[in-house]
Amino acid sequence: MNDSTEKVEACLACGSRRFRPAFTSTAQMHPSKEAFLFSRCEDCGLIFLSTRARPEALGQYYTEHYLPYRGDRAWGRYAGFVRQGQQRLDRARVRAVERYATLSSQSKVLDVGCGKPSFLKSLHEKHACECWGIDFSVEGWRGEAGFDPLHLLEGGPHDIPLEQQFDVITMWHYLEHDYDPAGTLSRLRACARPGAILLVEVPNFNAWSRRVFCRHWGGFHTPRHTAIYTPQTLSILLERSGWRVVRKGLPGTLGPYILWWLSWRERRGANWGASMARYFPEFLAGSILLAPVMALRRWSLDTQLVVAVVSRPVGHKVGRSVGW
Ligand SMILES: [Zn+2]
Repeated sequence: MNDSTEKVEACLACGSRRFRPAFTSTAQMHPSKEAFLFSRCEDCGLIFLSTRARPEALGQYYTEHYLPYRGDRAWGRYAGFVRQGQQRLDRARVRAVERYATLSSQSKVLDVGCGKPSFLKSLHEKHACECWGIDFSVEGWRGEAGFDPLHLLEGGPHDIPLEQQFDVITMWHYLEHDYDPAGTLSRLRACARPGAILLVEVPNFNAWSRRVFCRHWGGFHTPRHTAIYTPQTLSILLERSGWRVVRKGLPGTLGPYILWWLSWRERRGANWGASMARYFPEFLAGSILLAPVMALRRWSLDTQLVVAVVSRPVGHKVGRSVGW
């Protein structure tokens, strides 16, 4: 504990004050070797950072050493390959939304923590729906004319105007960074139309890659991830925040190999602040060699997707397929 850290008083999922130290994890994708304490809630089992960076000190962990923050430009001359990978991911996310909601030009969609809003752009191009994105940083869309049809806001969930009511809300790897996930989900509940659908994707604490890489597991992103959810603890959090879970424990859209490679590279040591171009050949070779292994179902749940609704919807696909 020092001036730049704070203690968490209650479990982020269920609010219990009964939790015990579980393990420490050192800062990842960061030059320091600071240790942070994860605890386990004795009531719901959530694993969360019980000593974490103060919000005002977080900036020091979102620098050039943090790979997701740098996007494809981190990969130098291989940026085009990485961009293609992002496009495949965007299409997978569009398909995930299509699976659970019927979209039209009348639909209103919000993506929280949109970063570079390429997913929203893909969704808008395919369905002409009204797309909104919000992020703490405008870096993802500043100076990019291609995102003009989108409504993009700078800020956090509490900056979303309540008069905007959405049919679909998505959060792709946002909630695990959130310091007040229950507050965020409650706010989103207030911005949701009756029958609205929520898709949340986060790393899965039950991941097989965590069992392989232990403290080096890339799903920790220490100290940026405030909690590491299982399908059960994520459901507890959602239900407590005004959402009804209709599907949980679905494979995430982010494939298992990325998490595997990040973990492997973290264990071997990397200069995360340098150009990633030096690592691209091994990244590509690994993706080919491990493809048969990563195709096994056990790996598909290393990232997880959950689908929730606010009330009984009319006409949503999920209502018919799940039969609730
Ligand atoms: Zn708990």
